[in-house]
Amino acid sequence: MKRQVILWAAVLALIGWMSYGIWRGEAAVIAERDGAAAVSAPEEEKALPAQKLIALTFDDGPHPVCTPMLLDGLKERGVKASFFLLGGSIEGNEEIVERMAEEGHLIGNHTFSHVQLTKISPREAEKEIADTNEKILAAAGVLPVYIRPPYGEWNEELEELTDMEPVFWNVDPLDWKIQDREKVAGHIIKNAGDGRIVLLHDSYETTVEAALEVIDTLKKQGYTFVTAEELLVD
Ligand SMILES: [Zn+2]
Repeated sequence: MKRQVILWAAVLALIGWMSYGIWRGEAAVIAERDGAAAVSAPEEEKALPAQKLIALTFDDGPHPVCTPMLLDGLKERGVKASFFLLGGSIEGNEEIVERMAEEGHLIGNHTFSHVQLTKISPREAEKEIADTNEKILAAAGVLPVYIRPPYGEWNEELEELTDMEPVFWNVDPLDWKIQDREKVAGHIIKNAGDGRIVLLHDSYETTVEAALEVIDTLKKQGYTFVTAEELLVD
């Protein structure tokens, strides 16, 4: 009797040991499969249809110091932005404008001397726009299609006067006024959303730093940064 018990115990121990071996083997296979899935996950994320798109736009440039700093940061992160340039600031900064085009950014018109287009005559408005387009074309070889009217001032008369398409915005952190990296970045991150267009000015170091911080943060939240054109043409 005692012998039988010992035998049964041995058999049970053997079964236990074998099942443990099988379980371990399966666990290893599952671990391997999960590991493989984890590696391919970022590609699956990119293919998701529910993409969140956002555009950073920079007015009043080019700035001889801040704009190249911003372009370096955008290049490092593989991000395309939109620049609405002042024709009057292009002279001496042609290489910066050329670089914008080379690196795939959208270049738009922000008038020649930052005038409120609705307050001047149609002839003057036409000249402000045309002279700026000419400067951009000469520097970068591209003729702008989009205009960011200073102060967002636009009307039907201007609509009829020019073929250029106005680009407005829906996120304004008042970066030029605040000049505080943390506050500017915080405002944008808080107000970010799919299809949003952010108004910034590449004439301040604080804005450049804030923009790069926003990119790093929102990318982790699944945002893709595009040019304003990509949000308008839909
Ligand atoms: Zn402006």
